[in-house]
Amino acid sequence: MHRLALGGFEITRIQAGIYHWDGGAIFGVVPKTLWSKFAPADELNRVAMAFNCYAIQTADHTILVETGEGGKMPAKARARMKLPAVHQPLPEIIAENGIDPDKIDIVVNTHLHFDHCGGNTVLSDGGARAAFPNARYYTRRGEWEHAHERHVRDSVSYIDANYDPLVESGQMELLDDDREIAPGVKLHLAPGHNRDMMVVTATSGGRTFCFFSDLIPTAAHLTPSWVAAFDLFPLEAIENKIRWIGQASRDNWVCGFGHDKDVAFATLTPDGQISPQENYANTDAS
Ligand SMILES: [Zn+2]
Repeated sequence: MHRLALGGFEITRIQAGIYHWDGGAIFGVVPKTLWSKFAPADELNRVAMAFNCYAIQTADHTILVETGEGGKMPAKARARMKLPAVHQPLPEIIAENGIDPDKIDIVVNTHLHFDHCGGNTVLSDGGARAAFPNARYYTRRGEWEHAHERHVRDSVSYIDANYDPLVESGQMELLDDDREIAPGVKLHLAPGHNRDMMVVTATSGGRTFCFFSDLIPTAAHLTPSWVAAFDLFPLEAIENKIRWIGQASRDNWVCGFGHDKDVAFATLTPDGQISPQENYANTDAS
């Protein structure tokens, strides 16, 4: 279990699965001779990644950030990602991490790519119902609108059943601005990966946890120029990375990454890399 006490909060890294994706897509213009030192590729040039979700437990709320891939992809796509044929439901994984899924009262999707919101809903009898019926869900309105544009570049990343039923029922709120969704827990617009992606900060007792989502998908992407080939706005991603990494390093934030399979929590050195003595990769607290 990867859990960290942060002031009055408890933060738990919950992995909704390990998958494999093309290394060139993940590291963009970075030569393989460099990135393969951080992420060795298999015979099909794929590297192992994780669908990272984080639970933030405060005195009054149990907040789930991201919901993983959700098991809605066709069998062929699952095989391509080396995902097991049978999907394990996220509430089960959350329970295995010692958290009652029924207690989740807030769900955040930093953006609506299937690997971040797939577990929002469960398909049954031809319809989709909320996987977390007691939760209010949040994402950005601009992202939801973009999802419906079905742009040829990234339409493959969107599955409407992951969010539309929740928007229609009023259970998902579409945000137009940054928002403090619970005392100390804030959602911030951080464009680059796409136009409306958000990063999440949780601050308690003078300490801050920051979930970078796909602005910094793995610790290897802490080098600002290492941006994924699928980022829509790479120059903006670099600009935002420099800004967020600078603050995280200066203020000794604990950081979490969208897809790093090993690093659950990390603080940063003054030059913005993982602090070796404070790498919480295998934190086994509580
Ligand atoms: Zn992602």
